[in-house]
Amino acid sequence: AKLAGPGAVRAFVPDMDAARRARRALEADLRQALGAGQFDVFFQPLVDVRRLAITGFEALLRWRHPARGLVSPAEFIPVAEEIGLIGEIGAWVLAEACRRAAGWPGEQTVAVNLSPAQFGVTDLAAAVDAALAASGLHPHRLELEITESVPLGDDSLAALHALKERGIRIAMDDFGTGYSSLSYLRRFPFDKIKIDQSFVRELASRPDCIKIVRSITALGASLGMTTTAEGVETAEQFAQLQAAGCDQVQGYHFGRPRPGAELVFDLGPDLRP
Ligand code: C2E
Ligand code: CA
Ligand code: CA
Ligand code: CA
Repeated sequence: AKLAGPGAVRAFVPDMDAARRARRALEADLRQALGAGQFDVFFQPLVDVRRLAITGFEALLRWRHPARGLVSPAEFIPVAEEIGLIGEIGAWVLAEACRRAAGWPGEQTVAVNLSPAQFGVTDLAAAVDAALAASGLHPHRLELEITESVPLGDDSLAALHALKERGIRIAMDDFGTGYSSLSYLRRFPFDKIKIDQSFVRELASRPDCIKIVRSITALGASLGMTTTAEGVETAEQFAQLQAAGCDQVQGYHFGRPRPGAELVFDLGPDLRP
């Protein structure tokens, strides 16, 4: 009787307050993170399957929180989108990623994630142009990854076409996880499809998965798009993806995301042919 009484309700309220306070603290911390220099960009190798060589890197944002340590982008990017900080943070990531890539020893590409919320910001193209101009990076070396989590409206399509005209490549990220994958492919000529890591993870346990991967690869090829498989963690997964015709692979098997100053540009001897 005690538990079901008003006491139970009172016990619940402080928890709600605690959650709200934690969220407000995260927002406040996030608002000053950029100015305080707490963001960093890590880079993970993208490996060409036929050449077995690193031909690019994906830029992945990291937040070093003074008290909490590294906070996952999966946690703070949605908050940054909600409170209207994503344009500013996204522009910083673009500039930092291009600056690093301009100093690499070869013609490796750099892939930067775009949040759908950035398309609402009309100066996306301006942020891209500013990053390219400041770094001197050739537009052909820049790739932008977008997810299918938000419908591609006419404004977004126009923005994507403007970027493509500059020679920048556009990749469809996390392919196969949303509800609109195929309509996305019909609406915009992507250069690359990134097959979501959930398909790769299930390769061993679900025999049908490789058939799906093979079909996506064939579909991409017929549309003039290359395919990249994400989340490759084992040699067995790599062998299957190679046989299925994937063009590029990415995952811990080939290298984890690392700070920009600590990049390795060659595959280890155990991974080379
Ligand atoms: P994503 O774009 O799908 O990035 C791939 C994620 O998979 C990264 O997580 C990467 O560290 C992780 N990963 C790579 N290889 C493996 C593997 O072999 N096994 C496993 N289990 N995971 C692997 P991360 O860095 O935590 O980023 C999470 C998500 O946050 C990204 O997913 C992307 O959607 C978003 N994100 C990261 N940086 C940015 C950014 O600068 N801007 C925006 N808008 N979003 C970003
Ligand atoms: Ca991505
Ligand atoms: Ca992805
Ligand atoms: Ca993802």
